[in-house]
Parts: sequence; C-alpha cells; structure tokens
Amino acid sequence: MNTYDLLWQRILTDLESTFNEETYVEVFEPLKSTHKYANGLVYVLVPNEFIKNRVNRLYLSKINELAVKHHKENIRFKFVTESELIPEETLVSPERNLNLKYRPGNMNATYTFDNFVVGKSNMFAFRMAMKVADQPGAVANPLYVFGDVGLGKTHLMQAIGNYILDQDLNQKVLYVKADGFIEDFANLLKREKMDDFNAKYRDIDVLLVDDIQIMGGASKTQMEFFKLFDFLYQANKQIVITSDKPAADLKNIMTRLTSRFEVGLTVDIQVPDLEHRIEILKRKLTTETSDIHDIPNNVLEFIASSFVTNIRELEGALKRVLFYCLANNLELTIETANEALEPLLKTKRKSDSLNENNYDRIQSVVSDFYGISLEDLIGKKRHSRYILPRHIAMYLIKNQYNIPYKTIGGLFGDRDHSTVLAACEKIENELKQDASLKMAVDTIRKKLDNPNHK
Ligand code: ADP
Ligand code: MG
Repeated sequence: MNTYDLLWQRILTDLESTFNEETYVEVFEPLKSTHKYANGLVYVLVPNEFIKNRVNRLYLSKINELAVKHHKENIRFKFVTESELIPEETLVSPERNLNLKYRPGNMNATYTFDNFVVGKSNMFAFRMAMKVADQPGAVANPLYVFGDVGLGKTHLMQAIGNYILDQDLNQKVLYVKADGFIEDFANLLKREKMDDFNAKYRDIDVLLVDDIQIMGGASKTQMEFFKLFDFLYQANKQIVITSDKPAADLKNIMTRLTSRFEVGLTVDIQVPDLEHRIEILKRKLTTETSDIHDIPNNVLEFIASSFVTNIRELEGALKRVLFYCLANNLELTIETANEALEPLLKTKRKSDSLNENNYDRIQSVVSDFYGISLEDLIGKKRHSRYILPRHIAMYLIKNQYNIPYKTIGGLFGDRDHSTVLAACEKIENELKQDASLKMAVDTIRKKLDNPNHK
C-alpha cells in the first residue's frame, strides 16, 4: 500500500467514527482507494456525480482537516468520477502540460506544493498560497509574498500556477519576472506593438510577477504595470507578486502601486530552522537521481547547520556532497562531507552566518565603544544614547554577514524586519553625510578586525 493509500485508509477510519453508519456506508464506503497522486492532490475515485458533489459540498473540509491531523499539511484530496478519468488528458501530469501555451518558457512544472517542505518559517505563506490556488481571485488579491533570496518565493508562486493549471487546463497562467516585464514594455515602446503586449498580458486568468523590486526606478514601466494591475484586478483575476521586502519598503516604486499591493494579503517567508532544513534535505534526497538515498543523520545535520539562510545553497551543498562521495567512491561521513564542502565553507567562513558569537561580538564591541550596557543596546529603551549604537550594530551585522533583516531583528529583542531595514538604511545614508559618524564606525570596524579585542 502506498503512503497516500495508507493516509486515505486512516482518514476513512476517522470518518467512520465521526459520522453515523448510514452516511458512512452510503458516502464513504464506496471510496475504497486512491487513484493517483499529482501536484499535492490525491485523487480518489467516486462512483457517481451525486456522491462526488455530496463529498465536495459537505465533507471536503473535514477530510482535508483530517489529512492535516495525520501530518500531511500539503496534501489535498480531489474526488473524481470515472468519466473524468477518461480520457486521461483531463488529469494532467506536469509533462503533458508542458505543451501548454502558458506553461512553457515561463512556468516550471517541478515547482509544486507537494515538494514544498512546510515548517514554521513558511507555514502561513504556504497555507495562503494553497487557498489562493484553490480559489483564484476570491481569497486574497493580490497575494504579496516577500522574503530573502533563496527561501522559496519563486517555488511557492509557481506552485500556485501549476496547481491552477492542474485543476483546469484552460486557465491562462502567466509567470513573468519583473525584468521580463520591463523588457517586454521596452519592446512595446520600440515597435509600438500594443496589441501583442495586451494579448500577452491582458488575455490571462492569473498573473504571477516575480521579484517586483527589480521594477524600482523604471517609472514608465511602473505606469504600464499599474494599468495592467487595475485591469486584471477589476476583472477579478488573481495576481501574485513576490519581492525581497514588504511593499511599504520598496524603493523607487510609486506609492500608487505599492498601496495596491497592500490591498490584498501580504505573507512572508523566513529562514527555516534547523529541523526544517534537515527535512528539506531529506525530501531532496528522495528526489535526487543518485543512488544514495540514505545519509547518516549527523551528516545531514552537518550540512543543514552549515547552510542556514538560503535553501538553494543548502540544496547545492547536498548535491556536492553526494557527487563528491560517489565520484571518489567514499563513504558518507562528516569528514568526507566536510572535505566536499571545504571550498564552499571557506568562502562562507568569512561571512559566516552560523556563528552567533560573531553577532554577539559586534554587539559587545559597539556597546563597549559607546559605553552602554549590552542589555540597553538590545533592549527597548528609546533614548538616542541607545538608539544610535543599536542602529550601528544592526547595520554592521547586515553589512558583514548579510543575513535576513528579520534574523537580525531576532538578535535585538525580536524586532521586526522593517525596523531593522529602516535602521540599516538610515545609517547607510548618514554615513555619506556625517564624517564623525563615519569615523566612529571605522573605529568600531578596526576593533572588530582585531581578534584580540574582546
Ligand atoms: P526565491 O525565489 O525566494 O529566491 P526559490 O523559490 O528560487 O527562492 O527557491 C530556491 C530553491 O530552494 C529552489 O530550488 C526551491 O525549490 C528550493 N526551496 C525553497 N523553499 C523550499 C521548501 N520549503 N521546500 C523545498 N524546497 C524549497
Ligand atoms: Mg525567486
């Protein structure tokens, strides 16, 4: 029995104890087994339309709730009749969909909900993405997803598109990176092909715009995007936008646009914790096309704790270790993993985001320099005596380690992303104008470079 069947059997057992016998026998008993599994959906065959509608109308949310209870957050059930299964085309595998007008080139069918590993850092974003995919245009429009690089924004956004396409092949889902949009708009101006432009961007059901921050400064493009946004929004078409920062913090993007982005729902993706990172590695292992599917836990832990802030790097590290051991016919141990990763770790070491003591050290050097206590540096007091050193310490940590703003906020009594971002930008600007501040920061930097300075 495969895992989905197993899950379904467990759910059936729960349903049996939840509903009266009559309902169970009539509705659920005929639903013996799962049919197939694709893109986060488990298909269950139902005998007729009547039962299908009944299940969908009355019991679907209960069933999905039970799936969650059995720790299958990212699995949904879909009930289909036999006639929906034939011809097979109606249930689309990603490969088959690749020929679709709106899938190739811009959509990547491998980004799905079911291979998106859910943890604390992305749970809310994931849930909302699922809801949006379930009911495009109805739940949250636009859906605005922000987070630092490599944390899964593109993956999640494309999963929405793929899910929608898997439900209905006729949906026109357009994925575009903001720079692609800028380019299309430039071409439009050059060749005056408004019709082509509109055909591409207006005749769609779902618009996915990735990395909107790139549009910063391109004001004419923004104007055009604004028009497009309103056009689609009015027509109730789902829009999903990703960015590296909250809409309010976007630089050089007209407020007319950023305020539109805030009309819908904003969700963020944070850095995954260690457990979550290990889970991502495990999941990756099951899909890697290497012969190695089993890695000692301590090796996984080693990789997961060496690559913290970027899932792409984390995956890259795993691949590297696998390849290194296979190519050299070595056993997978911490030592061989370390050897394999040495070149990466070496370059990382300087900007090592792992070692919290480095952050501590910046904090203590800064507080020393200004003659305030560490507690006040980190604490909530809003006196300028504390605020300036606090902002400098945030700025230095961002500058040296380039870790997410939110993570830095965590080092300063759980302050949020935007507070840290504002602090860093403020210091950066003031450094350009304020010579004495620059001198102070340079002195602090020298102290930090001196390993003997505690
Ligand atoms: P971003 O767009 O935020 O820079 P991506 O979506 O490109 O990040 O993700 C980088 C890589 O990490 C991709 O290969 C993606 O599949 C993977 N990834 C990110 N988040 C997850 C996750 N939660 N589970 C599994 N893989 C993930
Ligand atoms: Mg991306």
